Amino acid sequence: MKEGGRKPGALPPCAACKLIRRRCAPDCLFAPYFPADQPHKFASVHKVFGASNVNKMLQELPEEQRSDAVSSMVYEANARMRDPVYGCVGAISCLQQQVAVLQTQLALAQAELVHIRNSSSSTQPQSSSHHHNDTKSSSFFAIDNVTESLWSC
Ligand SMILES: [Zn+2]
Repeated sequence: MKEGGRKPGALPPCAACKLIRRRCAPDCLFAPYFPADQPHKFASVHKVFGASNVNKMLQELPEEQRSDAVSSMVYEANARMRDPVYGCVGAISCLQQQVAVLQTQLALAQAELVHIRNSSSSTQPQSSSHHHNDTKSSSFFAIDNVTESLWSC
């Protein structure tokens, strides 16, 4: 039975143990996910979830899922600090909104394509130029209005 202490010059304590000022045991649960050279990761997770909750969550998970869980917690903690009210949900709803806008844009573009194909096959492009320009300038499909709101959040 060896004492778990590290020799001087051995690895420094992990970022988690350093922040909560405890001895970093060789079997430290945090050490693989919160290396000493990335102190900000644990700092944000600790601030939002608390070290003991993070510890509890990691303990409940099988080892192969812990890394993903840590990434998720770090992401969520950072989002929560940026946006204390909505956190990740703010980012998710913003992206969902962008998806909806882009799907609308795609549908409009496809509809316009069909419209252009139909009008060019039924009439000569040159002879019907007046009518054609009319359609373009009045923005038959209101794509411009849709684009405006795309990056609003
Ligand atoms: Zn540690």
